[in-house]
Amino acid sequence: MSYDVIVIGAGPGGYIAAIRASQNGLKVACIDDWQNRDGSYAFGGTCLNAGCIPSKALLESSELYHRANDEFAIHGISTGKVSMDVKAMLKRKDAIVNQFTGGVASLFKANKIEGLQGRGKLLKAGEVEYTDAQGKVSVLKAKDVILATGSEPIELPFMKYDGDKIVDSWGALEFESVPKSIGVIGAGVIGLELGSVWKRLGAEVTIIEAQNDFLFMADKQVAKEALRAFKKQKLDIKLGAKVSGAKVAKSGVTLTYEDKKGEQTLKVDKVIVAVGRKASSVKALGENSGVKVSDRGVIEVDHDCRTSVPNVYAIGDVVRGPMLAHKASEEGVMVADLIAGKVAEMNYDVIPSVIYTAPEIAWVGKNEEELKKAGIEYKAGSFPFAASGRAKAMEQAGGFVKILADKKDDTILGAHLVGPMAGELISELVLAMEFMASAEDIQRTIHAHPSLAEAVHEAALAVDNKALNSINK
Ligand code: FAD
Ligand code: NAD
Repeated sequence: MSYDVIVIGAGPGGYIAAIRASQNGLKVACIDDWQNRDGSYAFGGTCLNAGCIPSKALLESSELYHRANDEFAIHGISTGKVSMDVKAMLKRKDAIVNQFTGGVASLFKANKIEGLQGRGKLLKAGEVEYTDAQGKVSVLKAKDVILATGSEPIELPFMKYDGDKIVDSWGALEFESVPKSIGVIGAGVIGLELGSVWKRLGAEVTIIEAQNDFLFMADKQVAKEALRAFKKQKLDIKLGAKVSGAKVAKSGVTLTYEDKKGEQTLKVDKVIVAVGRKASSVKALGENSGVKVSDRGVIEVDHDCRTSVPNVYAIGDVVRGPMLAHKASEEGVMVADLIAGKVAEMNYDVIPSVIYTAPEIAWVGKNEEELKKAGIEYKAGSFPFAASGRAKAMEQAGGFVKILADKKDDTILGAHLVGPMAGELISELVLAMEFMASAEDIQRTIHAHPSLAEAVHEAALAVDNKALNSINK
């Protein structure tokens, strides 16, 4: 068979690229090899099957359980003893996942995309080997190929995943009952989100992080505020502690880690390993494909996601840049438009990051440390949610919004939030930065009252010491 475009991988990078290519009038096939535990195939990649969507489903369920237990009384609501049914929570999560992965199959049909389930391998420019679910091998041809094969969890060499006591992030979405104690290795995004889920449901959670600085990639003030909130929730976060060994027994796992006091041990029932993800490129590239790959498996691409081979593109987690679903999707849109001969570009400076804990953490653009390092003079304005009527009414008045603007021309350079719905509020600031707005543009924009978004408005006012509902510095 021959196509205009073959996409290998149907995660948020690949399936979106396939849809946009089809919208551009191109004949498209998309090959994907994701298999569920029961061996069935499902489109949607890590994000829909074992990442963004199922984790958010469990974060929501566990947060509601926590609120029913610990916060309803503040509102004058008494419930008696609140109970939970973990299996029902997992069932709800699985139903959401199935709805969305089935949705991708329907979108393929509606857009006349050939969705192929099995393995794809780039042989050379224009030629893809396809091994179907029954093992039948064929060679498909296409003018352009998009590699969107994503990433997989890193395994620590001394701690192999066993699917029971030592699990990756997918396994951590499937515990059928609440473990008494969990050791999470890595206080990155996955460690914090999934650690929060099981802590809220009643597990004793210890997160062991090698770095001395908590959330070293985030704004320092945001990281400090978030750490304070997590400690209050009794998430035990050990910093500057590198895990170096694990002994698995019937009764649990004994982890060994080094911190500034020397070698320490921790005995837990389960271990979630969340030490990062690595690009999945090996099985998608034939020996003579010619595509350049770094020694860590990352496919090398230019600004427009072109690989070293003409007419072969790569997007998403398998290339440089943050491993985020929206970054993968936008690269997919850009590449599908470029293939169709359209003008397309991706603004890598304005990619939002969100951590869906409580409080939520979100940022876009540069933080203060980065601006100082780059020698850029800036103005900072902050507004605490404690002064937001809506946040108070929600009983979620911790955290703040901080906006950084260029001292010379007032252009917004970055925004850093920790607090309620930070992951939603950040979009206004992403849009502002995309339009190269100034702090004054946000100051002059009318925000509904009472809304959490007023905190964004007030932080923009604070940039020029004009906040109206808090005391300026
Ligand atoms: P993937 O989603 O990994 O999809 C790649 C697909 O290609 C897979 O289906 C794979 O099976 C298939 N494939 C690989 N090789 C081949 C081959 N040779 N032939 C055929 N098919 C192949 N990001 C966010 O932005 N927000 C979040 O809230 C978020 N939460 C997350 C939570 C967890 C627990 C995890 C693990 C990740 C989360 N992420 C989140 C990250 C997000 O899932 C990834 O950034 C995103 O899925 C990357 O998309 P992708 O299309 O590049 O790759
Ligand atoms: P991460 O890179 O965010 O964090 C991994 C952490 O593990 C690091 O802080 C690292 O210092 C630590 N670590 C590594 N080895 C260690 C050891 N031996 N002992 C102790 N600590 C150790 O990776 P992740 O949390 O696994 O997430 C992977 C990717 O998935 C991220 O790039 C993230 O962007 C993406 N993701 C995004 C979201 C979101 O957008 N909300 C949610 C989940 C995952």
